[in-house]
Amino acid sequence: MTKVLKFGGSSVGSAEALRRAAAIVREELPGGGLVVVSALRGTTDLIGEACGAAGAGDLPAARERLVALRDRHRRVASELGLWTEIRSTWMPLFERLDQLVTGMALLGEATARGRDSALAVGETLSAHLAAGCFGGAFRDVREAMRTDARFGRARPQLSALREAAAPWREALAAGALWVTQGFLGATADGLTTTLGRGGSDTSATLLGEALDAEEVQIWTDVDGVLTADPSLVEEARPIPRMSLGEAEALSAFGAKVLHADCLAPGGRAGFRLVVANTLRPGAPRTEILPHPPAREPGAVTSVAYKEGIALLRFPAAAGLEAPLDAARRLEEAGALRFGLVSSPAGTLMALRPETSAATGVLASLAAAGVGCESGWAVVALVGEGLRTDPLAALRHLAALGQEPVGGLLTGSSTVSIAFLVPESRLGELIPRLHDRCVVAPFQEQP
Ligand code: ASP
Ligand code: MG
Repeated sequence: MTKVLKFGGSSVGSAEALRRAAAIVREELPGGGLVVVSALRGTTDLIGEACGAAGAGDLPAARERLVALRDRHRRVASELGLWTEIRSTWMPLFERLDQLVTGMALLGEATARGRDSALAVGETLSAHLAAGCFGGAFRDVREAMRTDARFGRARPQLSALREAAAPWREALAAGALWVTQGFLGATADGLTTTLGRGGSDTSATLLGEALDAEEVQIWTDVDGVLTADPSLVEEARPIPRMSLGEAEALSAFGAKVLHADCLAPGGRAGFRLVVANTLRPGAPRTEILPHPPAREPGAVTSVAYKEGIALLRFPAAAGLEAPLDAARRLEEAGALRFGLVSSPAGTLMALRPETSAATGVLASLAAAGVGCESGWAVVALVGEGLRTDPLAALRHLAALGQEPVGGLLTGSSTVSIAFLVPESRLGELIPRLHDRCVVAPFQEQP
């Protein structure tokens, strides 16, 4: 019965945090298991900046970042009394990072492939440190995590991963305690890849699937998945148990606790996904279940939102070609699409630009005469109860009273309803909608 624990950057970001994580590992994995770690908080950004500076030909600026990185790691290792032990393991990694960055500066180019190799050093440093601190053995995740060669956002190759993970499955089932890197993978040819920013959650669940784990625990710095953003809703509280569908809808519509990509493996493999707080290990956790017991009909469990949404309006005369072409261009530039609704009256698209390239595409569309409004937010009510009583969504919406709603974004999800509201109204609306959220306990099946 293998368990996988994942610690994010803030849970391994300091000597104090690593000591807390070590206590959790002792408690949760007395009979062995797999621990997946992110890079120390801020490391991925720092390496990314170093690559950026090197690619622009500014080697001194890049080296400055690497010195900061080395100092920080050395300090944390020293505080843990692990510096002498880990020094000889780390030195070649620092050296490699320096060489990669020097190469980029020489070429005046930081390729996606080169960046991935450089970023990989962050996770590798922290996995070695965590192994020392937790009393486990370091294993390089690139032995198991097979991906394609889409550098910067590689896709896992599930059957190759499963095959490569076979020796891991055996050793872990026999009681080994291993510590490995999140975020990284390798192609069949052994080239290093990364799964995209925040990808360590996905590493943990993919490994959980390949290892036939019964449980994957994501250790973060909040009490599980909350009913709403606590900065807007004082009464927000952890949801004890939720379905995978609810978790998917919540991550899609703005909840930040889990990476949206990390949920699919649980759906396929059927393990329990647990979200817990490193700062309060004894606090209530959220369990995300692939086959949840029934919810109260109509019950909504949480409310999520995302600000910074732009609305594009295409007149009916534009047909579908123009909006679809715009959608493609925006997505290629990195925008996230939240809705695309077409009717005889025209087409409405809601999106979040996310990158300056996408903002540029948006500006060019506006200049070409496409109606373009910013300042909207998408709000979603989420709950398994909507599956059995879809009309309940309308009753919940009535809670909005006379609020202007920019549009209803119906999608394929049967466990959420999403709509647009002006950004400026979020502070008042979210708490009102939250009042409608009952974390009705799942009804136990007799
Ligand atoms: N270290 C990587 C990042 O900051 C991956 C992760 O933390 O999940 O994006
Ligand atoms: Mg994360």
